[in-house]
Parts: sequence; structure tokens; C-alpha cells
Amino acid sequence: MPEGNTVWLTARGLHKALAGHPLAVAELRIGDLATTDLTDRQVREVVARGKHLLIRLDNGLTLHNHLRMDGAWRVHPAGRPIPDTRDHVRVILGTAAVIAVGYRVHDIALLPTAAEGTVVGHLGPDLLGPDWDAAIATRRLAADPDRSIGEAILDQRNLAGAGNVYKAETCFLRGVSPWTPVGDVRDLRGLVDLVARLLQANRERYDHVTTGDARSGRRTWVYGRAGRPCLRCGAAVQVAWQGDPKRADAERISYWCPNCQPGPSPEQAQRGLHRATTPRPR
Ligand SMILES: [Zn+2]
Repeated sequence: MPEGNTVWLTARGLHKALAGHPLAVAELRIGDLATTDLTDRQVREVVARGKHLLIRLDNGLTLHNHLRMDGAWRVHPAGRPIPDTRDHVRVILGTAAVIAVGYRVHDIALLPTAAEGTVVGHLGPDLLGPDWDAAIATRRLAADPDRSIGEAILDQRNLAGAGNVYKAETCFLRGVSPWTPVGDVRDLRGLVDLVARLLQANRERYDHVTTGDARSGRRTWVYGRAGRPCLRCGAAVQVAWQGDPKRADAERISYWCPNCQPGPSPEQAQRGLHRATTPRPR
């Protein structure tokens, strides 16, 4: 699943492959954009903003896209057949040397670079961006003290770039249940700093290692380990849906160790039993 580090690395790879060379091939295989002619334009730069990809062109336009749950870009040498040319391919950008293929990329839009704010302006501080600001991210999280910390970390308006893996792992490493209200999390700033450190530590790889052990099955403490023993205490790792009941996708799955992560269970959170007995300062 693409997280901020995956998107950051994708942007860097696309930038290296495409920037500064005229486009020999440019296909946008979606609706209104299918007839857009970008050949001979140059890619000026490719940057990640949170989990959004911005491909900036030399004509003042930006090609925006988002990997969501299943999107990916692959760079192939030019002149070879593109693997899987079925409808999974949404964008093809090629120079004389390489072909970059966007498979199942989402939210494709071509807009003035000056208007990028309309697609990424809502984002909180970017965990991997040059403008990362932990104080602002902490303030944004703290603004909704009754919301569960698991949902709040995923909200890209608070901090941009963290997905479900880093949510689960951060909650584990800070010893809080994902259902803990933000206002009950001790040292919120410490939690924010940890999310940033985990993302930054994984910037150079497409997968995610939070344990320091890159061996298969040992990379994460709780994420993806439902029913298996917690790597710290041996209790069975739990899994449950969290957040908006209208959405049932992988972003809503929470993994946690009830032993290492005291705090409300999903059932208690649902019944409101997690409320602190003393009023929290607002
Ligand atoms: Zn445990």
C-alpha cells in the first residue's frame, strides 16, 4: 500500500527518469484528457506532496495524480513493449530513453502549476517535505481532542504522508490504543516526531520497516500481523475496523496489541466508555 515514503520515492524516480527531456510519448487514458497533446513538452520536475504526485511541465501546467490504495508508476526502457497494456494503464509519459507508466493511478488532473493549491492546499505539514513543521501538525491534531488518535493520524489535513502502516506502528511504539482520544494521548508532540522519524527512516525504500529488522515477517510490530504473537510481549495482535463505518477499505483496518497498547478497545470507543473521567483541558 502506498505510504508517504513510497510516493516520495516514486516522485524521485520519475524526476530522474523524465525531467529535462522532451516528451516523445504522452498519453492520458482518461475521459476529457485523452485528447490532450503534451508531446514535445518537457517535464520540469516531479515532486510529492503528502501522498499526491505533481508532475510539473514546462508549459505552466501540472499533471496531478494520486496512488491511493493500488496505484503505481513503473519506468521501463523505451522501445520495449509495456507490460500489461490493458485498462490498468492510465498514463504513459515517455522520452527518447524511457517510458514511465502510471498503473491504476487516480485523481488525474491537468491544472495550472500556479493552481496546485486547489488539489493539495488542504494538506497539513508534509512529513517528508522541506516545509515539515511538527509544531503545526501537533496543533492540528490537538484541535479535535475527542477524535481517536488512529483516525487523526490518517487525516491528511493534520499531517500529510502517513497511511495505515505508520498509523499502526506509531500507536504501538507510543503504547496507545488506536482508539485513544487525541486529548488523552500523553506527549502528542512526541508521537508526531515519531511518525516523522519512521517515514524519514523509510524514505529510501518502497516498503516499510519500523522494527529495524528488514527480514520478511519481522518488518512491522503489529501492522499486517493479526493473530500472530506481538513481537514484544507475545500476546495475539488484534485487528478491527476503525472510523467511518460507510467506508470499508484497507485504510480502516487497525492492528494493535491490547497488552502493549492500553486504552479503549473498539467496543469501548463505540459505547463512549473511553471518555476520561476528569474533563480534559480544551
Ligand atoms: Zn504486545
